[in-house]
Amino acid sequence: MNKNPSHLYDVIFVGAGISGPFIAHELCKAGIDCLMLEAGKHYTRKTYPRNDLDGTSQLYWAGGMELGQDCQIAFLRPKVVGGGSIVNQALVDRFDDDAFDSWRDQSGVDFFNESDMAPWYEKAESEISIQTISEAFRNENANIFKQGFDKLGFTHAPLRRAQKDCKHEEGNCCIECLNGCRIGSKQSTPETVLKEALTLGLTLIPEVEVVKISPSADQVVVESMNGLKGKNQYRAKHLVLAAGAIGNSRLLLMSGMNKQLPAIGKNFFCHPQYMAFGIYNKEIKAHLGAFQAFKSDDAGFRKDGFKLENVYAGPAAIAILLGNYGQAHHRYMEKLSHFACIEVCTRDTTPGSIRVKRNGKTIIDKTRNKEDLARYDKGKKIINEIFRSTGAKEVVYGSFGIGLHLMGGCAIGVNPKTSVVDPEFRLHGYKNIFAADSSIFPNAPGINPSLTIMALSKKAAADILRSIQS
Ligand SMILES: Cc1cc2nc3c(=O)[nH]c(=O)nc-3n(C[C@H](O)[C@H](O)[C@H](O)COP(=O)(O)OP(=O)(O)OC[C@H]3O[C@@H](n4cnc5c(N)ncnc54)[C@H](O)[C@@H]3O)c2cc1C
Repeated sequence: MNKNPSHLYDVIFVGAGISGPFIAHELCKAGIDCLMLEAGKHYTRKTYPRNDLDGTSQLYWAGGMELGQDCQIAFLRPKVVGGGSIVNQALVDRFDDDAFDSWRDQSGVDFFNESDMAPWYEKAESEISIQTISEAFRNENANIFKQGFDKLGFTHAPLRRAQKDCKHEEGNCCIECLNGCRIGSKQSTPETVLKEALTLGLTLIPEVEVVKISPSADQVVVESMNGLKGKNQYRAKHLVLAAGAIGNSRLLLMSGMNKQLPAIGKNFFCHPQYMAFGIYNKEIKAHLGAFQAFKSDDAGFRKDGFKLENVYAGPAAIAILLGNYGQAHHRYMEKLSHFACIEVCTRDTTPGSIRVKRNGKTIIDKTRNKEDLARYDKGKKIINEIFRSTGAKEVVYGSFGIGLHLMGGCAIGVNPKTSVVDPEFRLHGYKNIFAADSSIFPNAPGINPSLTIMALSKKAAADILRSIQS
């Protein structure tokens, strides 16, 4: 690491989640001098938090959850080296034409179609191992999902997970990988592209929050806060914003850049997700083994704007979602091993917004319109049928929605009045500031976002390299 404060890097990255490391890897391969600043801690396989509560409080901003203004959705925003790739469920899907068509309509960007994006998906997929769960290792929660779908005539498909060797034959339980995978199977960026970028010379500084950027024609000055160690400044010829939907919007707003780019913080989406639990007389033990194996793959669901997922969560998360107290709460928690779980993930149509108050507090406005609520209701009804048809005695619904796929705020598009990033991943009007992460999503695709973030980052890396080398 270069300790000289006046050192001028070729590129500074804000955020070491998914997009940052995917771009940095390509730039470091080309010998570019890169610095990556990340607000979260740098854990290793041995040091990831070992339980639900520690994981939630240590791996996320605001100690676990940020609430929208109307308190109907809790946003989970990762804060750790590896970002979402450490805590996510590692489900990787390519977008379909439905998603790309609506992106193209919204943004005017013509490469949003399956064939133009295919080579970038291939490059992204070549960096990670992708597996499905074999029949031998499906747990009872997965069996219920499949049985219910088969009985009711809906189409399902195996989930594609970014994993390498989950050691199920040794009795490994994957649910703990939501706090970081201790066996290195999950294909998080610290296990893949970030690891390689570091060996190629990337400088990574964790536990540093970037609070302001000041761009000029030939460089960008980056101001950061480092806990008790205080403020610092770094300089680079180019900047890559990879702090996620809320992180990028917040930083650009705090830097006053919304005067030139009024769309900063607008068009925020989050695929609101709602968990439901079927309670059975028999033990389900949904926490054991490979905790997710199937997804819905039903054309009718896609048309109706939702999908169903075979998921589970740790006991602390379930306790919060149940939303009850005292004896009633006790009665449910005693039966935890009898719970099966299915989640409805909705494709939201109401654009939200991200603002920053004078005191630095982030305000997230994300309401749900009638259409969004109707999408939830349709999914909820089918979950109820799946649980009832497979013998559940009771069905309980999570008491609020969860926003895990945080998208938008710095939308890509051709029009600088309605978008923030141009089709070459540059901030409109700034030739040396780039972004290709979840913040550039123009709207909600209704499909897991991370593989597309990797693919867009690969594409952006090629554009950034061209720009640096020209
Ligand atoms: C519990 C959970 C489950 C999920 N499951 C799936 C799934 O199965 N499949 C899927 O496709 N997606 C899933 N997602 C969503 C996916 O992980 C995100 O869409 C993805 O991580 C976004 O990538 P990113 O690079 O845009 O940002 P992130 O991965 O969020 O990385 C941004 C990083 O920037 C850092 N940062 C922010 N602000 C600053 C600042 N000012 N200074 C320095 N650093 C900063 C953050 O700390 C963070 O580490 C899930 C998310 C969660 C939370």
